[in-house]
Amino acid sequence: MTLGQKIAWDDTVLPFQLDQSDIRGRVARLDGVLDGILCQHDYPEKVEALIAEMTLLTALVGQTIKLRWKLSLQVQSNGPVRMIATDYFAPSQEGESAKLRAYASFDPERLTKAAPFEQVGEGYFAVLIDQGTDTAPYQGITPIAGGSLRACAEAYFAQSEQLPTRFALSFGKSTEVDSSEHWRAGGVMLQHMPKASPFAKEGASGDQGLLAAADIVDGDDKENWNRVNILLDTVDDLELVGPSVSPTDLLVRLFHEETLRVFDIQPIRFGCTCSEDRVRNSLSIYSAKDLEKMTTSEGLVTADCQFCGAHYVLQPSTLGFEARADDRDED
Ligand SMILES: [Zn+2]
Repeated sequence: MTLGQKIAWDDTVLPFQLDQSDIRGRVARLDGVLDGILCQHDYPEKVEALIAEMTLLTALVGQTIKLRWKLSLQVQSNGPVRMIATDYFAPSQEGESAKLRAYASFDPERLTKAAPFEQVGEGYFAVLIDQGTDTAPYQGITPIAGGSLRACAEAYFAQSEQLPTRFALSFGKSTEVDSSEHWRAGGVMLQHMPKASPFAKEGASGDQGLLAAADIVDGDDKENWNRVNILLDTVDDLELVGPSVSPTDLLVRLFHEETLRVFDIQPIRFGCTCSEDRVRNSLSIYSAKDLEKMTTSEGLVTADCQFCGAHYVLQPSTLGFEARADDRDED
């Protein structure tokens, strides 16, 4: 296999379905997307690992949802890492790339030697879906549980959506020869198709008293779910993260005994949606007096995008609901 063919699988999500088992899934590979996200910041390696895992989850989940605008996954917690935020923007047209962006807020002096997830502490895992203007955003929240971001996402889908969901993820700094060290991530998502009336047995077996996938399947569904999960258990980290095993080869290797159907691959790239107009829009609720308090000693209002680091410098007289349009023209 030539290098060109290998790279063709990077920064993509491949949807698939196991028809007889009523299970759908996704295979994601992230490479340049993670470079794009992480080079905007100078995060410690533990924070980069959390971003890599969260971005991979967001790519897998985002492509599963009928999305017109934006899916966000967020962790808000009381640990040294206080916030991890990721956004997935649906492609505006068929054939275009979806866009991903991410950032983390943390207290550098509170970071410990413990594993990345230990830096998170207690708090919430949130899923937000914004279908664009003139729609009400959806938000679902579950407590942080299960010892990894992957487990948090699985608990979210079992508890909040009654959808048995499983992730197998691998991520780390690549050690390919003749290539500078950089982050790669790859993973598989399995999810039972939604049911009109999901089964839920009495009691929840998950961490923090939350429902787990096993609590919401029974009968044939349970048998199928368990069998497919045992097949997924045979995957190893290198197969997940690539680049030598293509996602289609991986699926055939894992699920050749199931009725496997593969759909069109979705390319993804790093991208931010911030713009001067959006900054102006978010400041439009303020009076000239409020804006005076935000003005620097140089007489300007500045705003930084947490996702991409873009720096906006604006004239206060052109901002807020008392803005003078003629001042803006002179900029
Ligand atoms: Zn930005």
